[in-house]
Amino acid sequence: MLRVLIVGAGLTGSLCACLLRRALQNRVHIQVWDKSRGTGGRMSTTRFSDCVGADVGAQYITSTEFYRKKHHSLYEELISAQVLEPMTCSVEGLQQKENAQNFISPEGTSHIVKHFLQQSEAELQLERHVTSVSRRGASWEVEFTGGQSESFDVVVLTMPVPQILQLQGDFSHLLSEQQVALLSQVQYSSRFALVLFFSKDQGLDLDFGLKYVSNNDCIRYISVEHQKRNNNSGLGPCLVVHTSVSFGSKYLDSDLLQVQTLILDQLHKLLPQLPQPISIKTHKWRFSQVQTAVPDCPGHMTVLNQPLLLLGGDAFTHSNFDGCAESALSMLRTLTQSLH
Ligand SMILES: Cc1cc2nc3c(=O)[nH]c(=O)nc-3n(C[C@H](O)[C@H](O)[C@H](O)COP(=O)(O)OP(=O)(O)OC[C@H]3O[C@@H](n4cnc5c(N)ncnc54)[C@H](O)[C@@H]3O)c2cc1C
Repeated sequence: MLRVLIVGAGLTGSLCACLLRRALQNRVHIQVWDKSRGTGGRMSTTRFSDCVGADVGAQYITSTEFYRKKHHSLYEELISAQVLEPMTCSVEGLQQKENAQNFISPEGTSHIVKHFLQQSEAELQLERHVTSVSRRGASWEVEFTGGQSESFDVVVLTMPVPQILQLQGDFSHLLSEQQVALLSQVQYSSRFALVLFFSKDQGLDLDFGLKYVSNNDCIRYISVEHQKRNNNSGLGPCLVVHTSVSFGSKYLDSDLLQVQTLILDQLHKLLPQLPQPISIKTHKWRFSQVQTAVPDCPGHMTVLNQPLLLLGGDAFTHSNFDGCAESALSMLRTLTQSLH
């Protein structure tokens, strides 16, 4: 049976695994590896005690009329599985394209990724950090932290491009000069996410689900997670704050606790009535959203046809649900053509 490794349990990797399973059924053994302790990548949802889960990265899905038609079956699938539902909360300061529609995931955006992973029936290996990819005859030898390795017929890499370019092994020598030049053009914004969890009996007294802030150098976005998701389960409330890109770049390599204090100071100026949280988490998104994607790209890059090695992810399209779907679908076309 064909052994396929997909590196990255974010949206692109999970959807690619799911589509490949549906196309090739039991003719393929799919493994998905991720260096993190959980799945989701930049669509991850974090939890604390009996509080509402917090979306640390992607907040909601916006579909334009064009992509709602193009990815109709994916939207239908997620809506009928109750993984997506229309966003109905009060929104402040959002500039939206005409005819665009917003969706939230009632259990958190990581459930979109979990849904596709579950459908893929792939063997999932977490805390598996790929360090090197090397060609061994007709297959690939993939090494992960600790020096162990496994062999695969096909490898698909979906992590952010700078992390792809850090890989050791002879993979980097297989990239043509032109491919390296294209990959080197990819640029990401950076930002911080701050998550504040409150106890069940603490009311936040905020009347919006999410809000874009325009008059603050540090804070760009705030969401009240249970109101964003219309979740009245009585769990402890939780607030997610995203910083501006300029603040993210300025403090990218600063001490995380110092950054947390700076964000909290600004948050208290914007929302002075906030009660004391029971827990605070700060996350740095070094690779947040793609600012410059790989130019003139069909959604992925083929490094080698025999054995097959593909690069995909939002850097090959654009940073949102439909960008990842475009990349996964374009990889599926190449995978099925090559594997048939
Ligand atoms: C703060 C923020 C807000 C956003 N808001 C929205 C939004 O509202 N709506 C929207 O649609 N999109 C939003 N996005 C963009 C969206 O989250 C991304 O486009 C999408 O999640 C990218 O998915 P991916 O699978 O391509 O990459 P990723 O999610 O980055 O997945 C790559 C995976 O590879 C793993 N990995 C990396 N290196 C290795 C290695 N060496 N070995 C093993 N595993 C490795 C990582 O742990 C990660 O899980 C937001 C992103 C951020 C950061």
